[in-house]
Amino acid sequence: MPAPPVSGKPVFRFAPSPNGRLHLGHALSALTNEALARRFGGRLLLRIEDIDRTRCRPEFERGIVEELAWLGIAFEPGPRRQSEHFDDYGRALAALRRRGLVYPCFCSRAEIREAVAIREAAGAPWPADPDGAPLYPGLCKGLDSDEAARRIGAGEPHVLRLDMAAALAAAGRPLGYGVFDARGARQAVTSAPGRWGDVVLARKEVPTSYHLSVVVDDALQGVSHVVRGRDLEAATDVHVLLQNLLDLPTPLYHFHPLLRDGEGHKLAKSRGSESLSALREGGVTAQAIRRRLGFAF
Ligand code: GLU
Repeated sequence: MPAPPVSGKPVFRFAPSPNGRLHLGHALSALTNEALARRFGGRLLLRIEDIDRTRCRPEFERGIVEELAWLGIAFEPGPRRQSEHFDDYGRALAALRRRGLVYPCFCSRAEIREAVAIREAAGAPWPADPDGAPLYPGLCKGLDSDEAARRIGAGEPHVLRLDMAAALAAAGRPLGYGVFDARGARQAVTSAPGRWGDVVLARKEVPTSYHLSVVVDDALQGVSHVVRGRDLEAATDVHVLLQNLLDLPTPLYHFHPLLRDGEGHKLAKSRGSESLSALREGGVTAQAIRRRLGFAF
C-alpha cells in the first residue's frame, strides 16, 4: 500500500454517504471538523462514501457539495469518491486473506436468525454487537476450504467475514488509540473489537465494507485526525484492529455529541430528519444554522 502523503499539517476529513440529504447532524459533524482543523492549523478533506451503489445517487452527492458550500465550509478541491477506489480495498482484503484472517460465509440473514434462536432456546441470551445485532454464530467458520471454493465457483451468494479470534491473535497485543479534545489534550483509550464478532468485510454486490474502506482511505489520504459522531465510537475499535493488521497508522479520534429529535432519537436520514436543503428553502440562513449549532462565523 502506498505511503500516505507527507504533510506537516494535521489532516481532517468529513466523510458523508450520498444516500440522502444532509441534515443538521451532518452539519454539526462538518462544522466540528472545520473548527478543529482551523484550530490546529490542519487541512480539511471531503470524502464521498458511496460504496453502496444501490443507495447512493449522484444527485445526493451534488446536494452534499452544494449544502456544504452554502454552509461556508471550504474543503480542499477534488473529493475522494470511494466508488472509484474498489481496487485499493481489494488489495487490503487480499492482504488479510493471505494471512488467513478472512473466511467466506454463505449464511442468509434468516439462517443466522434461526441459528441464534436455537442457541437462545438452549439457554443463555445470545450476545449482540454494540449496534444491537446478534453476533455471527460462526456457522461457516469451520467450512472446509475445498467445499467453500466449490460453492463460490458455483456462484453461491456469500460475504467475507473477518475471523475475529484469529485477527485478535494476529494483532497479538492490547489495542487502543488516542482521543483528542478541542484544546488539544489527548487521552489514551483501550479498544475491544472482539465485541463485534466476525464482522463482514466485503459483500458480493459491494466488494468492500464501511469498516475496510474507511480504514484504507484514512491511511491513503494521510488523515491524522478523525472527527466523527459518538455513534461511531464503538466501530472505531474495529478500525483500530484493521489498521494494526494492515500495518496502517492509527489517527487520533474525536467523537462529537449527536443531535437528537424531540423523541430523543438521533437525527437520521432514515427517520426523515429535516434536511439542510429544506431548512434552506424555508428561508433559514447558513449563519443561523452555524449559530444554532454553536459555530458562529
Ligand atoms: N460515512 C460515515 C457516515 O456517513 C461516516 C464516516 C466516518 O467518520 O467514518 O456515517
